[in-house]
Amino acid sequence: MIFDRFAEGLEALEKTSGRIDLAKGLSNLLLDLSPDETAKALYMVQGQLMPSFAGEPMGMAGSLLLRAIGRALETLKSPLSEADLKERLAATGDPGLLAESLLPSGERPPVSLAEVYDRLLAISRLSGAGSQEDKILHLSRLLADVSPLSARFVGRFVMGRLRLGVGDATILDALVQTEVPASDDGTARKAERKKVREELEGAYNLCSDLGRVGAVLREEGRAGIRKISPMVGYPVRMALCERLGSGEEIVEKIGRAAVESKYDGFRCQIHVDGKVSRLFSRNLEETTAMFPEIARAAVEIFAGRSAIFEGEALGYDAENDSYHPFQVTITRKRKHNVLEKSSEIPLKCLVFDILYLDGVSLMERPFSERRKILEGLFPVRVRGIADRELPPEGVFGASRLIVTEDPHEVDLFFDEVVEEGFEGVIAKRLDGVYAAGSRNFNWIKLKRSYKSALSDTVDLALIGYYRGKGLRTKLGIGAVLGAVYDPGTGEFQSVARIGSGLSEEGWRDLRAILEELRTEGPPAGVVSGLVPDFWVRPTVVVSVLADELTRSPTHRAGRREGEEEGFALRFPRMVSGPRGDKRAEDATTADELRRLYEIQRQRLSGKGGEGG
Ligand code: ATP
Repeated sequence: MIFDRFAEGLEALEKTSGRIDLAKGLSNLLLDLSPDETAKALYMVQGQLMPSFAGEPMGMAGSLLLRAIGRALETLKSPLSEADLKERLAATGDPGLLAESLLPSGERPPVSLAEVYDRLLAISRLSGAGSQEDKILHLSRLLADVSPLSARFVGRFVMGRLRLGVGDATILDALVQTEVPASDDGTARKAERKKVREELEGAYNLCSDLGRVGAVLREEGRAGIRKISPMVGYPVRMALCERLGSGEEIVEKIGRAAVESKYDGFRCQIHVDGKVSRLFSRNLEETTAMFPEIARAAVEIFAGRSAIFEGEALGYDAENDSYHPFQVTITRKRKHNVLEKSSEIPLKCLVFDILYLDGVSLMERPFSERRKILEGLFPVRVRGIADRELPPEGVFGASRLIVTEDPHEVDLFFDEVVEEGFEGVIAKRLDGVYAAGSRNFNWIKLKRSYKSALSDTVDLALIGYYRGKGLRTKLGIGAVLGAVYDPGTGEFQSVARIGSGLSEEGWRDLRAILEELRTEGPPAGVVSGLVPDFWVRPTVVVSVLADELTRSPTHRAGRREGEEEGFALRFPRMVSGPRGDKRAEDATTADELRRLYEIQRQRLSGKGGEGG
């Protein structure tokens, strides 16, 4: 496909709101692409050049783009001074529109989508001395080679400002429609579309790469998708926990279960193949360079074999032969002085699952079987309700667990680990598969904070903010509007206006971030009963604690068809600034909110025990 045609498609998407129409528009665009182009197009509509775990960020500074536009204009013999360019940029505020308005239209040899992608990738990979100038040169050539409309999207893309509102869910829906087109009323072949959606999502959960899923679907159809299996080097989307309020509820729900200490550190998904190992975070970012001792130990322990396994990394306190609290462990999350810090605070990794071994996926095997394999590979230092949990001698050890169907024993184990300073416990279904990318009752967490009326913090995606009043006028922000996510509909649904919890500096920093994300009107997929002073693209996630969850006619969160009221948080306060480890789609979901409400209801009516 010619890039100019692709840019027209992007323009049409930009004018579309609502996930259904976005998916339809995107599927029409995809139908005209080859498999190779499909992957490239899918990365690009998400503002990326590669799947996010590959860490290939484009984000160029505005000043570089401005200079590239200036250079392109010189080549095209209509130069403008730098001051003039800056002035015009200040007037439009959008470097993409600036490029579009200045670059002349007219006949040019066509440039393909694949070529633009390849040239952008080459630009992003330029590094070292003199690379800034090279970037400007190559970008200016690219801008001069494409139509003004294409230049708009290239300009926004390189600055990381392509805001089409196309998330993972929309892409999956669009791919489904390339296989089974939806009828106008959406009813025809609904069951078939649902099946294809599940297959695609399953494949995505295994490789975390929508470009790859799209390319395989276009090339080999559904048969190819069914063949996708876990691969070393491609992070598996992580299994997540549901919550319940007590040992009794847990046993009632899943019967005899493995109950493990819940460690508060960094989740590591470790991939080993021969002499190479790579680590991925909860958010699927590569963390190999941050935790070199874990990467090294993984290669040693597997000695030439291949594996994918998961554990929680904790800072080791050698003086007390114990673990550091999270505030200390987190200081290991750094890009510089890694070696120095690793000798000061070495890490231990408590392994809790194994997904793949020597070319064979273990994800469909029951937990009890995976655990047996895990215990054959990693030392078990302490089991069950013993004295205290001793850290492993080497870097790795198996997580500590008990297997029980006695609610009282779950609660005892919970009390024991909490007393030792851990966060709580995670109960696991003994016959549960590794449920990649999903949150279900295969894993259930029970945390310390569950003693309050509202049992846990919630993670909200911010969808807007309010101008500050009174003492906050000078900060330019007085409150934010937070939303939960509904993966079923792809909606962000408002649940609270939050005006407390941050220091002055914290508010100032938050405003600076949100300002960059402002949109005209509510972004696609945002549903809110309140209208903030400024809408923002859902990107930032904060943790929020509240006194209570109430039913509310104002907020839409968790509202089911036919219901008048959604849910709202009472007296909400932020307990964290922006959480770098979570994307907007990782926010607490609408369904979780309903369950929290249920836990709270039982707690308030005295049912469901103490739960810690
Ligand atoms: P989530 O990851 O579920 O969105 P969160 O980041 O707030 O939410 P929790 O749900 O509180 O985390 O806890 C789940 C996390 O607990 C896992 O992602 C993992 O990092 C950590 N964890 C600690 N111990 C264990 C264990 N024994 N088994 C599984 N996970 C564990």
